[in-house]
Amino acid sequence: MSFSPSNALQAEPGDALSMDEVTAAIDIDRPDAFVQLGTRFLTRLPAAPVPDPYLVAVSADAARQLGIDPALAHEPAFAEFFAGNPTRDWPAQKLPYATVYSGHQFGVWAGQLGDGRAIGLGEIESGGRRFELQLKGAGRTPYSRMGDGRAVLRSSIREFLCSEAMHHLGIPTTRALTVIGSDLPVRRESIETSAIVTRVSESFVRFGHFEHFYSNDRVDDLKALADHVIDRFYPQCCEADDPYLALLGEVMNRTADLMADWQAVGFCHGVMNTDNMSILGLTIDYGPFGFIDGFNAHHVCNHSDTQGRYAYSRQPQVGYWNLFCLAQALVPLFGQQYPEEGRAERVIEDAQRVLEGFKTRFAPALEARFRAKLGLTDPREGDEKLANALLEVMHANRADFTLTFRNLAKMSKADASSDAPVRDLFVDRAAFDTWAADYRKRLADDSRSDEERAAAMNRVNPKYVLRNHLAEQAIRQAKEKDFSEVERLLHVLSRPFDEQPEFHAYAGLPPDWASDLEVSCSS
Ligand code: AMP
Ligand code: MG
Repeated sequence: MSFSPSNALQAEPGDALSMDEVTAAIDIDRPDAFVQLGTRFLTRLPAAPVPDPYLVAVSADAARQLGIDPALAHEPAFAEFFAGNPTRDWPAQKLPYATVYSGHQFGVWAGQLGDGRAIGLGEIESGGRRFELQLKGAGRTPYSRMGDGRAVLRSSIREFLCSEAMHHLGIPTTRALTVIGSDLPVRRESIETSAIVTRVSESFVRFGHFEHFYSNDRVDDLKALADHVIDRFYPQCCEADDPYLALLGEVMNRTADLMADWQAVGFCHGVMNTDNMSILGLTIDYGPFGFIDGFNAHHVCNHSDTQGRYAYSRQPQVGYWNLFCLAQALVPLFGQQYPEEGRAERVIEDAQRVLEGFKTRFAPALEARFRAKLGLTDPREGDEKLANALLEVMHANRADFTLTFRNLAKMSKADASSDAPVRDLFVDRAAFDTWAADYRKRLADDSRSDEERAAAMNRVNPKYVLRNHLAEQAIRQAKEKDFSEVERLLHVLSRPFDEQPEFHAYAGLPPDWASDLEVSCSS
C-alpha cells in the first residue's frame, strides 16, 4: 500500500504552535465562555493522572483546525498533556471543569447525570472560531455516580475514528484530536486498558443541560444557560419576539437536518438519550454506534437496547421526541412578551407550533438527500416512492447499504448490463430488476449524462464508512500496541468519497467472522 504514516504527520510550515504555546493558548476565562456560568453549572477539578501515557492516534486534520502542528504529537509532552497529566500543577485559573446535566435515558427520566468522565480544558481560538477541548476518560468527577471516570482503549478508538469519519462525510459532529493510551487497568466485562480522547467542539451543551435546570426549578440558571447559547451560537434569535422560542426553532432545524444526514448514510447512533443530544445539532457521544452493512430498516446497533428504541427507522422520531423534552425544559422562558393573563396557553401553542415544524423540515431534507443519492436533479412526483421502493428491496435482501448506493452510480441509462455491480448485491435479482426498470425510466427524464450523474452521486454516496469490522481490526492490533491500522483507517476515512483504489478492500462486505460482532453500552 502506498500510504506512508509519516506523510500524515508532516510539520506545518509557518506559524504553528509549540507544545508550551498550545497549553498557553488554551483559554479558560473568556467572559462569554461556558465555564463563566459558574459553580451551579460545573465543578472545577484536575484530571486524575494516568501512568506512562502514550500516543495512540492523532488527527492531523483536527490538529490543523486548531492551529496545532500535528508533528507535536510525537513529543512526550503531548501525550502527557492530553492524558490529563500536567507537567506542573494545574494553575488555579486553568483548572479544568466537569459540567452537570440531567436527561431522559431510554425514554425514562434519569435525574442528574453530568460529565462523569469528561473534563473541559478551555478553548482554543483558530481560524476565527473558538473550540472547546474536552478530555474524555480523564478520571472521576462529582458526576461519576458508580463509574470509574475512565474509558477503555476500544471505545476511545471507535469514538476517535467515527468523529473524524463523520466530519469528512460532511455530517455535523464533535471532532477528536487525539487518543492517548495508558496501561492503567479498568474493569468492564473483563480487564482492559484505559485511554483518553480529546474531543473538540464549539460547544458541548446538551439538551440535558436545560432539562437539569428546569427539573430543579432554577429558572434564573435556565435563563443564563439559554442566554449563553443564544449569545454564542444563535445571535439571530435576539431579533425574534421570543428569543427562546426562536432558539427552540433553530435547534429543531439542526436536529431535523442531522437526522436526515444520519438516515442518508445508514448511521445508527445507538444511545439517543436527551443527554446525548447536542444543542448545536452535532453528532455527540459515540458509544455503541454503527453503520449499517446489510440493510435492515429496523437495525439496532446497541446490543443493550433490547426494545429497539433507537433502531435506525426510529431515529428521526426519537429526535423529535427529544426536542419535546427540550421544549418542555424551555417553557419557563417562553412568552415573556405576553401579558400574564393567558400566557401559559399561548406558550404551549407556540411551542407546539414550532415543534410541528420538524415534519416540514425533516421530510424534505431527507427527500433531498435521497434524491441526490439516486443522482436525480430536479424533483419529480414519485421520487420519494422510488427511493422508498429501493430501501424496501434492500431491506428484503439485506443488501449492503453503502455498496448499493455507491454502485448505483455505475448504472447507465441505456445499458442494463451495467447494473451488475449493484444487482449482484441482491439475492432476489428479479425484485431488483423491477426496481431498476422504474429507475431507468426516471433517469431518462434527467438531462445529465451518465458520467456527470455518476460523478455527482459519488460526491454524496461514500465508498468508505467506519464499518464495525474495520474498527474491530484496528482495535485488535491496537491492543497489541500496533497503532498503524488506526492511522491507516483514519487516512482512508478522511476521503470517504474518493475511489482510493489502493484501499478497495476497506469498501468490501464484512467478513464472516464479523457477523456476530456486538457493541454494547460498556465503554
Ligand atoms: P453515556 O451513556 O456514555 O452517554 O453516559 C451516561 C452517563 O454516564 C454520563 O453522565 C456519563 O458521564 C456517565 N458515565 C458513563 N461511563 C462512565 C464511567 N466509566 N465513569 C463515570 N461516568 C460514566
Ligand atoms: Mg453521554
